[in-house]
Amino acid sequence: MEATLPAATGFQAEVRLDGGGPLAPDFASRGSLARWHERTADRVLHAVLLHSGAPDRACAHHQDRTLVFAGELYNQGELLGLLPGRALPDGDAALILALFDVYGAPVFRLLNGRFAALFTDSRRAVLATDHAGSVPLYVSVAPGRVLAATEAKALRAAPRGRPAPARPVRGRLGIHQVPAGTALDIEVATGKCVTHRTWAPPSARRILPEDEAADAVRRTLERAVAARTGAGTPLVVLSGGIDSSSVAALAARRSPGPIDTVSMGTDEADEFPQARVVARHIGSAHQEITVPTPELLRQLPYAVWAAECLDPDVVEYLLPLTALYLRLGGTGADGAAGRRVLTGYGADIPLGGMHREGRLPHLEEAVCRDMNTFDGLNEMTPTLSAVAGHWSTHPYWDRDVLDLLVSVEAGLKHRHGRDKWVLRAAMRGVLPHEVLVRPKLGVHEGSGTTSSFTRLLQDAGVPQDRVRQAKRLVVREIFDQVVVGGRHPDEVAVDAIARLVADREPRGARPAPR
Ligand code: ATP
Ligand code: MG
Repeated sequence: MEATLPAATGFQAEVRLDGGGPLAPDFASRGSLARWHERTADRVLHAVLLHSGAPDRACAHHQDRTLVFAGELYNQGELLGLLPGRALPDGDAALILALFDVYGAPVFRLLNGRFAALFTDSRRAVLATDHAGSVPLYVSVAPGRVLAATEAKALRAAPRGRPAPARPVRGRLGIHQVPAGTALDIEVATGKCVTHRTWAPPSARRILPEDEAADAVRRTLERAVAARTGAGTPLVVLSGGIDSSSVAALAARRSPGPIDTVSMGTDEADEFPQARVVARHIGSAHQEITVPTPELLRQLPYAVWAAECLDPDVVEYLLPLTALYLRLGGTGADGAAGRRVLTGYGADIPLGGMHREGRLPHLEEAVCRDMNTFDGLNEMTPTLSAVAGHWSTHPYWDRDVLDLLVSVEAGLKHRHGRDKWVLRAAMRGVLPHEVLVRPKLGVHEGSGTTSSFTRLLQDAGVPQDRVRQAKRLVVREIFDQVVVGGRHPDEVAVDAIARLVADREPRGARPAPR
């Protein structure tokens, strides 16, 4: 039977010319650990794989070449067509390794997937992310040694590395994050590195008639949803907004039985009535989970621990989802399997959905800016759901969907007074009218996360005009504790950090004590 989760959801790996020993793995992601050890005449490879039962399929080995792979591919059919007459490779890792023989490191330009990968042969290590860097990948390089991991904290004990053509991680000397859509080709003996870009956001815009554009979006999104639903019953995290409702409706259409949907809210705000409309329409087995606001805020350290992100806005989007994943059933000590979760996350970035005014030059500029700055924010990281043993995947950031959504001209994104018009048009006949015209409401707004985080800081004494900066400092402090310092999120007191940040306010900026 086809597995529900990918063969591996994360890894830590080390390629060395001298023996050495494996590092102690430290992941926020939950899963079993499997070790892979390989010695050739030239080098040693140690890998630790995070998995849910089938780690062998996450490592492929042929002659002196090995591929370590976390995640999954969504265009296996196309890729198999490139290997006519060969025996079918068993799993994604074996497929990529077979293609590597034909294409070399640029093989990563062929892949539509959600993955991080390490290829190694007798003298080099190639580290690759998918087009969106959606499974983060970190590296520490020194002559004779390359260390890589899908979480920065897993490299905390790494010896100091040399500079690499990648983004340095705060507080971690010599650890760098491999950029999205990149393969770093590293000569192990010297640490010299060549960069291959494997994807870039399209800059050209496609001019299409309305119907043609809507059809193309519908077809491409259908394929992306189909490629992600796997063998079991899909679970969609559903707000009732157009993005997640479209994913849920398309998943339901191809499912023989009812799919599962789940909505989260807090005691402050929820979108339960809106989600119920969709659940009823598609006949899903629907669940509502209410997280008390104080509990939600206490889980801020989990969101930062999982996403390894320093951006307070992004952390506000990710916190309600982290809280939701932590409460999903079907995983844990009883051995029950983690769920495959589909989301509607990310549609707003290529469609400019957060940009709530219709002037096309501004919309176009916002899309370009967001597509040029998403990298490194880790919004799509699977670790958010993996902290609870689940695997999440985002159809809007499928490579084909993303290419299409970015490249349709701005007038198809905002049209007839509506944002995300082309998506709404694509879903005509699939979703009820009231869902098609529902205005955007961000997850951070619909769950009251932004307002309750603001209140936490104001209650601690931060003046209103300093809240934004204070949020940045809180997130940074949490990052320093859980990522750089290695503390468990349960040991981090958010209230105390809020007070600390309030106390650090410049004199005069704080209200006088009464
Ligand atoms: P819209 O952008 O039009 O509001 P949306 O609500 O589906 O559509 P976002 O608000 O951008 O999308 O939220 C991102 C994703 O997070 C959603 O697509 C959905 O998968 C998930 N999500 C958001 N809010 C909730 C919620 N309250 N419960 C469960 N999942 C949610
Ligand atoms: Mg929403």
